[in-house]
Amino acid sequence: MNCDEIRERLPALIDGELEASELAEVEKHLAGCTECRTEKTRQEKFTTSVKVSLEGLRPSDRFIKQVIEKLPESDAPAREAEAAVTRRRNTVSLVVALAIIALAVAVIVFRMSRRAGRDGQGGKPPAGTSVPVPPPAPAPAPAPSSGRP
Ligand SMILES: [Zn+2]
Repeated sequence: MNCDEIRERLPALIDGELEASELAEVEKHLAGCTECRTEKTRQEKFTTSVKVSLEGLRPSDRFIKQVIEKLPESDAPAREAEAAVTRRRNTVSLVVALAIIALAVAVIVFRMSRRAGRDGQGGKPPAGTSVPVPPPAPAPAPAPSSGRP
């Protein structure tokens, strides 16, 4: 492969989508060609910066619907995409509703256990009083420890 052929394959290489048969050839060329290596580094930096700046962004459902409406009527994949958008919105609503219910239960149980602690002796609930255990709330995961104190 010459330099032009190598550079055509750089995006696939960076995305990890290069066929194994081509990968060896491209890597062999890069090992011996400074210009193509420089171009690969440049493309990697660009790809990374685009990914970082677009992180967390996604088109609004309204935008997706508008795009779908511009497509031909018979476009089956677009219809499926529209259904997926609707499904996802319903799923999100359900998850939010469950989270709110779980939080409400947790608050009620917390208040009940505090009241029991005040009324009882030494902060213990009176004998025979069982505090209901709330279902596990889908609380956000704690931030991973970075090793610093
Ligand atoms: Zn080259």
